[in-house]
Amino acid sequence: MEKIKMTTPLVEMDGDEMTRILWQNIKDELLLPYIDLKTEYYDLGLPVREETKDQITTDAALANKKYGVAVKCATITPNAQRVQEYNLSKMWKSPNGTIRSILDGTVFRAPIMVNGINPVVKNWQQPITIARHAYGDVYKNVEFRVPGPGKAVLNYVSEDGNIQSNQTICDFEGAGVIQGLHNKDQSITSFAHACFQYALSTKQDLWFSTKDTISKIYDHNFKDIFYDIYARCYEQQFKELGLEFFYTLIDDAVARVIRSKGGFIWALKNYDGDVMSDMVSTAFGSLAMMTSVLVSPEGNFEYEAAHGTVTRHYYKYLKGEETSTNPVATIFAWSGALRKRGEMDGLADLMAFADKLEASVIETIESGIMTGDLVGLWEGEAPAQKVNSVDFLKAIRGKLEAKL
Ligand code: NAP
Ligand code: MG
Repeated sequence: MEKIKMTTPLVEMDGDEMTRILWQNIKDELLLPYIDLKTEYYDLGLPVREETKDQITTDAALANKKYGVAVKCATITPNAQRVQEYNLSKMWKSPNGTIRSILDGTVFRAPIMVNGINPVVKNWQQPITIARHAYGDVYKNVEFRVPGPGKAVLNYVSEDGNIQSNQTICDFEGAGVIQGLHNKDQSITSFAHACFQYALSTKQDLWFSTKDTISKIYDHNFKDIFYDIYARCYEQQFKELGLEFFYTLIDDAVARVIRSKGGFIWALKNYDGDVMSDMVSTAFGSLAMMTSVLVSPEGNFEYEAAHGTVTRHYYKYLKGEETSTNPVATIFAWSGALRKRGEMDGLADLMAFADKLEASVIETIESGIMTGDLVGLWEGEAPAQKVNSVDFLKAIRGKLEAKL
C-alpha cells in the first residue's frame, strides 16, 4: 500500500513520562506505517524546556499559529518536587498555559464514547463538549477580609482621574468579606469567536449560559457580546448548516443538560466551566477517554489528551514492569489533528484515515480488548480482556489494517 501523503506539516509537540513512551508507540504502530508523516517537531519534554529556558514552548506555539494545526503530548507542569527531580534552574510555567495565552485560545473537552462504557446519565447518547472561558472572574480576583464595622465601596478611576460607580457594596456592622472580580470585553470576544468557530468546525449546536438575571451588568455583558458576535459573524453559517446557538440561564441549562441526549457544545464562564467540566467528564466515565482541543479565535487548533503524563505508570515502566496505560485520548489527539490538517489542505485520504483509526480504536474496545482503567467500567457483552499498552495498540492495528 502506498503511504498517505501530506502537504503542510503538522506541529508535533512531544512531552513527558508515560505519555512520551506512548507517543512513540502510537507513531510506530499506527501512523508511520501508513502515512508519509510530515511534522515540525518540538520537544516539550521537561529536559529540553530546561535546556532552552522554555523558549521551545513559545516556538512551538508560534509554529501552531503559523501552520494552524498542532498535536501535543501531555507535559509535566513543574512544582517544587519536579524542580528537584529534574534539577531545574527555574519552576517553568505550565506549557499549556503558555500556549493558551499565545494563541488566546479556548479549551474544548469532549469524551470518547464506546458501547459498553455507559455514562452515569443514561440518556446521554452523544458526547457533551465543555468550553470553559479561561480568563478572569474569581481566578483573577481581589479579596479583602473586612475586620469590623465600616463601608465597602466599588470605585472605578478613569485615566484622567474621574471616579465613577462609587456604589456602596455593603455597610458592614461587623466583620465580613469582600471580593472584586473583573473581565475584559476583548477576552470574552475571543472566547465567543472560539466557541462559534468550534461549533461550525464540529457541526454541533452551541449552548451558552450565565446568570444574567441576577448579574445584570457583569453576566449580561457576556450574553450581549455572544449575541452581537453571533449576529455579525456566524448566524448565516449556523443557519446554512442547520445549527443552533442557544442562550439560557445557567440553572435552566443544568436541568436541560441532564435531560439531553448530548451532542452539543456547552460554553461556560470560567468558574462554571471549571466545576461543570469535572462533573460532566466524571459522569461520562474515564479521564483517559477525554480529548481536549485548544481553539484560537483565528481558527488555529491544538489537539491533546485531557489527562496528564500518568507518572505512577511511568515509574512502574522505569522499573521494567508492564503497564496497561490507556493511549486512547492520545490517539484521538493525533486523529483529530490529522483530520483537521486534511480538511484544511483538502486531503480526503488523510481525513478518511483519521476516521478509520478512530473506528478501529472503538471496535477494539467494543470487542472486549482494553486497558486496565476501563475494565472496572465495562458493561459490554464481550468479556473484558485486560492487555498492556503495546498489545492494545497492536489489536487496534489489526482492525485498522482490515480497513485500509
Ligand atoms: P494524570 O497523569 O492524569 O494521572 C492521574 C491518574 O489518573 C493516574 O495515576 C491514573 O490512575 C489515571 N490515568 C490518567 N490517565 C490515564 C491513562 N491514559 N491510562 C490509565 N490511567 C490514567 O495526572 P497527575 O498524576 O495528577 O499528573 C501527572 C503529571 O501530568 C503532572 O506532572 C502534571 O503536571 C501533568 N499534567 C499534564 C497535563 C497536560 O499536559 N495537559 C494535564 C494534567 C496533568 P492510576 O494511577 O490509578 O492508574
Ligand atoms: Mg476543576
